[in-house]
Amino acid sequence: MALKQLNEQIKNCRKCRLWQVAKNAVPGEGPLHAKLMLVGQNPGAEEDKTGKPFIGRAGKFLNKVLAKNGINREELFVTNIVKHVTPKNRKPLPDEIAACAPYLEAQVNAIKPKIVALMGAVAWQAPRVEGVEYVEMYHPSAAMRFTKMRKKFEEDFSSLKELL
Ligand code: URA
Repeated sequence: MALKQLNEQIKNCRKCRLWQVAKNAVPGEGPLHAKLMLVGQNPGAEEDKTGKPFIGRAGKFLNKVLAKNGINREELFVTNIVKHVTPKNRKPLPDEIAACAPYLEAQVNAIKPKIVALMGAVAWQAPRVEGVEYVEMYHPSAAMRFTKMRKKFEEDFSSLKELL
């Protein structure tokens, strides 16, 4: 399915309860032919306000790490496994993940990136599409708080840069 059509479906999605508390769905953004796709957990308050992924604190940290490794965010497709904000930014529930994950799978099928980087344990649950390489990384919110995780997170982006 085309990305535009998918975005429409995501914006109108009522498959779980989360749309009720959200201002905007956050389908993700980036070019159709992105080689690298980044996947987080769910949009936070800033993302909910604007409909854009990773623009709050975690996003700013992510931008810094990308820039440090010479990766241009504009060339990536950035999204989340769950497309609506959660109440008080709690972890998405299993049924919310199950309802939303097919959208991510469809996005991977539409974009066919070389690599999908799953950031954080919730994103690690993403269904895998054959022929696409998946990499499991820490979530930027954890990486910006804990030194060891930050080092590993930065190393992982440095390795990703080599693979692209
Ligand atoms: N955290 C996420 O996992 N995704 C966002 O879009 C923002 C914060």
